[in-house]
Amino acid sequence: MSLAVGLLGGTFDPVHEGHLHAATCVRSALGLPRVALLPCAVPPHKPEGLVASDDDRLAMLRLAVADRHGLELCTWEVDRGGRHYTIDTLRALRRAHGWDPVFVVGMDALADLASWREPDRLLAEFDLVAVDRPGRTIEEAAARIAGLGATRVRAWDGSADVGRGGRVFHLGIPPRDVSASEIRRRCAAGEPLDDLVPPAVARYIRERKLYRLEAAR
Ligand code: ATP
Repeated sequence: MSLAVGLLGGTFDPVHEGHLHAATCVRSALGLPRVALLPCAVPPHKPEGLVASDDDRLAMLRLAVADRHGLELCTWEVDRGGRHYTIDTLRALRRAHGWDPVFVVGMDALADLASWREPDRLLAEFDLVAVDRPGRTIEEAAARIAGLGATRVRAWDGSADVGRGGRVFHLGIPPRDVSASEIRRRCAAGEPLDDLVPPAVARYIRERKLYRLEAAR
């Protein structure tokens, strides 16, 4: 039996409706029982630009997935702390839980894949699903990863054995123009967050006064 599990990795600083939209679209299009949001940890000695603490990012993620059927939180990297490469995390989750990870990326992340650790092995061992995001086209992203391994990007085809590895699927989704940097910029400028984050997350940000003093990146 396949244990295909969608995993959307990111900084989630903070989680927003674009993440939830991408995860929900992948879950329903691929028929996955669940998609987990997988936040990275803040490396202890080098925050690398992350603004909110692990605790705050996790708290917001918990609020965000609480009422979204089939969406979960995977705290593997935060529990262990420090820097983790995606390939190592996916291998570890496969080993520890018997999962067949399906790694979900936005189009910007797919375009940057060459800068990741062992991108050829990542593509060989795992299936990736790339979803649309304003600002990047699938053609551009596919051209940027064309030199990696033998992988070419194909449209999502309803594959029955998703999670087996070795493929990059493109799943067309209605683009949602929202980013964490825009949320942080709005908080710093005192502007409303409207419907860019779930109401419970907006409340949390307000109550904890997050992102107020930080210049937008
Ligand atoms: P920042 O603005 O700080 O760069 P971000 O909004 O891109 O942050 P991340 O946590 O870095 O958020 O993103 C995690 C993953 O979610 C990446 O694969 C990214 O491409 C994807 N993603 C983020 N926002 C969207 C969106 N609006 N639509 C589709 N995918 C998204």
